[in-house]
Amino acid sequence: MSLAASSDGVRVRAPGKINVFLEVGDVQEDGYHEVATAYQAVSLYEDVWATPADDVTLRVEGDVPLGDVPTDERNLAVRAVRLLQRTTGVTDGVRLDIRKSVPVAGGMGGGSADAAAALVACDALWGTGLSTTELLRLAALLGADVPFSLQGGTAVGTGRGDELSPALARGRFDWVLVPHGEGMSTPVVYRALDEHRERHSGDIAPISRRPAVDADVLHALRQGDAGMLAAAVRNDLQAPALRLRPDLAGVLETGERAGALAGIVSGSGPTLAFLAADEAAAIDVQVSLSAAGLRAIHVHGPVPGARVV
Ligand code: ATP
Repeated sequence: MSLAASSDGVRVRAPGKINVFLEVGDVQEDGYHEVATAYQAVSLYEDVWATPADDVTLRVEGDVPLGDVPTDERNLAVRAVRLLQRTTGVTDGVRLDIRKSVPVAGGMGGGSADAAAALVACDALWGTGLSTTELLRLAALLGADVPFSLQGGTAVGTGRGDELSPALARGRFDWVLVPHGEGMSTPVVYRALDEHRERHSGDIAPISRRPAVDADVLHALRQGDAGMLAAAVRNDLQAPALRLRPDLAGVLETGERAGALAGIVSGSGPTLAFLAADEAAAIDVQVSLSAAGLRAIHVHGPVPGARVV
């Protein structure tokens, strides 16, 4: 059965994200790094259809290379279904059909979006009617980026990135994304950052404070000022991502030469996000990057989180 034919169930869309700011602090006792990040949900979506079934099954298709996305119990969307079953006592099954548009292992939280969408879809399908607070609690159990995909918009994340507080953002920001053919493992990028800090512990000052989002970033978001935001974007995972994928540095330069106000590695990479002054400028950047032989996708943010469509 095609995805379109399964429309008798519930369809949920959940957005991918860009981290416009990501500061990485120390490793905590649970093995996770403490972070402070400013997320923005962008108009690149995962679509998840949930239809009634006896068992839990999953199919994945998409416009992106599907790489090593598991379709069994390891898939984050299936884990979300199992968590919802355990929490609510529902014993029904579900058939999930996922259409991915967010690059796999691209640093844009595609798996997290699938998990958020699966929670919302099954909650609607089974009529379990969980509150937003309860859904956010379950989301945090699934992964650091899942609560944000549920909430969407623009938000600050602290702790592992899962403790959200709203960030005011005016207007819209235009971004051009350049995905990489081959994804990158988030733990590997964090490990590269740790190794670098370890090697240079004599030269770089120890992390002295809890990570926090720069006031300039929050101000730029509040003002809806792309120029101001471009001057303030920062990602502590960018340097290790570039060390692991040196070819990304040239693409960053190409984007900035093409007129982007700033280019940044999205999350743990390897997707690059270029911020443009406005919609027309983003189209120019997209055309220039495409002419240079790169796949370039124009998106905007902020957009809402996972919801039934
Ligand atoms: P992170 O949230 O860790 O930053 P990411 O955005 O870089 O992740 P994802 O596409 O979410 O990357 O997936 C990372 C890995 O998680 C994949 O390589 C895959 O093995 C596994 N995975 C589990 N479930 C999913 C899913 N529904 N979609 C994509 N990957 C999944």
